[in-house]
Amino acid sequence: MAQYHQFDAIVVGAGGAGLMAALYASRSVNTAVISKLYPTRSHTGAAQGGISAALGNLEPDKWEWHAYDTVKGGDFLSDQDAVDILCREAIDAVIDLEHMGLPFDRTPDGKISQRRFGGHTNNETKKPVMRACHAADRTGHMILQTLYQQCIKNNVKFFDEFQVIDVLVENNVCNGVVAVCLATGETHVFQAKATMIATGGFGKMWRITSNAHSLTGDLPAALLRRGLPMQDMEFYQFHPTGIYKMGILLSEAARGEGAVFINNKGERFMERYAPTMKDLASRDVCSRSIYQEIRAGNGIDGKDYVYLEFRPEVVNRYFQADGNPKRVDAAYMEKRLPDIIDFVRVYMGIDPITQPVPIQPTAHYAMGGIPTDLDTRVLADEKGTVVEGLYAAGEVACVSVHGANRLGTNSLVDLVVYGKRGGMKMAEYAKQATLRPVRQDAHKMGEAQLSAIRDNPGTERPSNLRKELQVLMDQEVGVFRTGAGLEDAIERIHALQARYKHLRIDDKGYKFNSDLMEAWELGCLLDLAEVTAFSALSRTESRGAHYREDFPNRDDQNFLKHSVVWKNGGLRMAYKPVRLGRYAPTERKY
Ligand SMILES: Cc1cc2nc3c(=O)[nH]c(=O)nc-3n(C[C@H](O)[C@H](O)[C@H](O)COP(=O)(O)OP(=O)(O)OC[C@H]3O[C@@H](n4cnc5c(N)ncnc54)[C@H](O)[C@@H]3O)c2cc1C
Repeated sequence: MAQYHQFDAIVVGAGGAGLMAALYASRSVNTAVISKLYPTRSHTGAAQGGISAALGNLEPDKWEWHAYDTVKGGDFLSDQDAVDILCREAIDAVIDLEHMGLPFDRTPDGKISQRRFGGHTNNETKKPVMRACHAADRTGHMILQTLYQQCIKNNVKFFDEFQVIDVLVENNVCNGVVAVCLATGETHVFQAKATMIATGGFGKMWRITSNAHSLTGDLPAALLRRGLPMQDMEFYQFHPTGIYKMGILLSEAARGEGAVFINNKGERFMERYAPTMKDLASRDVCSRSIYQEIRAGNGIDGKDYVYLEFRPEVVNRYFQADGNPKRVDAAYMEKRLPDIIDFVRVYMGIDPITQPVPIQPTAHYAMGGIPTDLDTRVLADEKGTVVEGLYAAGEVACVSVHGANRLGTNSLVDLVVYGKRGGMKMAEYAKQATLRPVRQDAHKMGEAQLSAIRDNPGTERPSNLRKELQVLMDQEVGVFRTGAGLEDAIERIHALQARYKHLRIDDKGYKFNSDLMEAWELGCLLDLAEVTAFSALSRTESRGAHYREDFPNRDDQNFLKHSVVWKNGGLRMAYKPVRLGRYAPTERKY
């Protein structure tokens, strides 16, 4: 027997996007948040470097420059009306966070401190601009804590450690979700007028990833199973600076503060690939350049990594060479980048103040996801048909502001701008809508997926399948892709899906059964990997983070369009036009 709950608005996910939506919805309607993690454990808390807004606190800046950088960084695949909203509203959103109590770092005269980040420029000089607002290198942590406190104050009801396994969508109408209470294993049906999905990324498809253990794409997979599509899944960002072999992220803030990439010849090789922006070129450009160096035999000791140098004497040498008057010392670096310096010391046993740090690109961010309109309403197809009562925001959604490649610090902006917008739109809708009945057997489809795993007499271990999937994705659906490699990947993912039907888990119980839930999550990852590889195979051009070695050029004639992919009843693609605006596509130079 399932337990039933009713709310005007429910939000699945308690990261920055979910909490912002809940905060704004709860100002006028009865709102609940459902989260498989305790809210402050959400991945937003791991965001380090900053949140961008053209405040112009330290040097001239304009939101229009931020918009242009975002569109250019996205290789002209962003919808420019969505980008305008993002960059214009970023300014108020950051000030809103400040007023809620977020402890930003300060300039000497008391304003919010800002620093440089990849791809953010002064459009006139083309030089990097200080646009990233930050609280040391713990910006996401501070956002999450601030928003959680505000939600508690606003009486948002929290269902912590409840994992959603199904979304009740039929005939393009959503009536709520089905969740498992992890402590008891019981099924709960949440009925709502408005439901928002804000479940973050799905980087666990890859082995080398910056993403938390929990980022397994549960809700995108649930929607695919309910016949809804995903958008732009071929665009997945690889961040250039993951700790070698571990993937743990070292924020781009390090390069914002002056750190540089160095190859085995001691060269600052980004000077060759991006003569103006150098080490602060966009992430796709840096990640590809690192691999090109490795392929050319310039990896350190002939291996698949290069160095990130943030020893003050090296940083100062390059500042001098660039004619930049700034100088840093050990105390400055420790103050500005405390967490990442600590990560390197703890995980690598290396001191970045006195030694170079081995890094390699790491799977980081989903530009694609659940298609939405500008009001965060989920779309059922390429024509723009709205799913009534269903919303999505944050990394899981594709509105699309990041296009083919996201700029650093633009995700946190996306969370607060579109989270807020979504929360307000949900409340507006819920105030005039009536609660729709859910079917008595609403919970059966989700429950059947769990019992198919729990009761399976098979022999396949989920951990083995997961590892095979992750290695395959690293090899064939990574920074470089080819048609043959992607075809092979799809075939091998199908083979893994067949083996998935014969799983074996040891824990058959109900209380905190992580064995069961992780096996279920693996099924979600397999489904997302399948649509990712298929979308990548279908796009025979290179754009942003999607690089096809067999089609190395951007092809605006045929591919200046978003992909939309379905999985139920066989893989199927459609395309829809990009909404251009002030900025016509040009060649991207950094
Ligand atoms: C290490 C790291 C550093 C980063 N640094 C920056 C940065 O400096 N600046 C920047 O702009 N971006 C940064 N990013 C990207 C940014 O942090 C993320 O894109 C963003 O935080 C995602 O927020 P979200 O609200 O969409 O989801 P998350 O914060 O990921 O939250 C997801 C929520 O969904 C819940 N959930 C998931 N599945 C289920 C389910 N089945 N049932 C119930 N609940 C579920 C989880 O419990 C969680 O509460 C970074 C990312 C990483 C990994």
